[in-house]
Amino acid sequence: MSDERYDPTWVVDLARRQYPDDRRLHDALASCTRVVRRCDCGCDTPYFAEPSPDSMGEDSDFGMRIALQREGGHKIVVDLLPDGRVACIEG
Ligand SMILES: [Zn+2]
Repeated sequence: MSDERYDPTWVVDLARRQYPDDRRLHDALASCTRVVRRCDCGCDTPYFAEPSPDSMGEDSDFGMRIALQREGGHKIVVDLLPDGRVACIEG
């Protein structure tokens, strides 16, 4: 497990502007201060939490995805676990 630090300020700011009422999302993003691993496919996506093995069953609720727009139109995607924690921030 890596203990790389992460500063989520930029993505919390985007979420506050684009989903102003979603306090749970803001808090989940604000707690993304440590990268547990980087995606190994080469895209370098940072992961902040891993789904628990018992939530990986075939009928599991896989959480949700939230799209955010960066300045210049670049889109990022936040993957949330069913418990509300952020799994990863792509883009
Ligand atoms: Zn990847």
